[in-house]
Amino acid sequence: MTTLQPTKPPPAHADSALDSIRAKVLDGQRLTLDDGAVLYETPDLWTVIELADLVRRRMHGDRAYYNINRHLNYSNVCALSCKFCEFYRKRGEPGEYTRSIDYIKDEARKGIESGATEMHIVGGLHPHLPFSYYTDMLNALRETAPEIHLKAFTAVELVHLARIAKVYKRDDIKSGVRWVLKKLIDAGLGSLPGGGAEVFDDRVHKEAFKTKIGAHEWLDVHLVAHELGLNTNCTMLYGHVDQREERLRHMEILRRSQDQALHRLGYEGDPNAYIAKGIHESEEITAPAITLNREGIALPSPTLQRAATVRERLI
Ligand code: SF4
Repeated sequence: MTTLQPTKPPPAHADSALDSIRAKVLDGQRLTLDDGAVLYETPDLWTVIELADLVRRRMHGDRAYYNINRHLNYSNVCALSCKFCEFYRKRGEPGEYTRSIDYIKDEARKGIESGATEMHIVGGLHPHLPFSYYTDMLNALRETAPEIHLKAFTAVELVHLARIAKVYKRDDIKSGVRWVLKKLIDAGLGSLPGGGAEVFDDRVHKEAFKTKIGAHEWLDVHLVAHELGLNTNCTMLYGHVDQREERLRHMEILRRSQDQALHRLGYEGDPNAYIAKGIHESEEITAPAITLNREGIALPSPTLQRAATVRERLI
């Protein structure tokens, strides 16, 4: 196996504004929003890469993980019309489609033949498909391709499914989503994809995707998924109406959500200092939270084992 070595930055490109950040990284400290702004501004990309690689190696050594992934979009029919979206169609529009369960099974077979280890399954918010369509889809995939991991349904879709299943409560989103997730886990759901988060910011939400769930709901859905033992991720759709500060704030909010999830899995730290006020509402962190700065604390296998235990306990 080839061992990669960090590339040393040419001295002429070194940016002294990164010195304090380097010291924090070497000391295993958590970076702040102001540090994030410096990282965005610096022209010294080599040092940023070197420091990021240092943290990665500290956590994972020379290990790297990948999977062979197949995307399945079960339908592009959507009740919403987000400003930036070219994917959705209204019913009856040219290009509209909704896949049958047989079509979906064929996709799974093709995935296996080409070595896929995971299916990434998302679609529009179809106004008329029954809830049973989604559980049937997962059951069919599990039956056809039991070895494939099923990563399916964004937080936005899950809230929509709670509405379809008539378990949605405006003042208690979590209980409806918990009901939906338990049914989907029973049918074979393995984890959640990270779509629908866009940028966690009220202004951006109002301007670009105001009819979709906001940060508060998105984070609640992922919180419930974590409680049920699912791993989830988050994608940031940026570069439209968002500003740099809003992207930084998004990453900070996301890091708090990660703190909560890791704390539940037994990692040390004190995220409750701000969780008491709500992840997305409180300002700067007032107490040290979880810093991933030690070898052996890395994902994924200990997390998966613990997650399985948590899931067993809760379901
Ligand atoms: S909810 Fe998703 S599919 Fe529907 S319009 Fe918005 S981004 Fe597109």
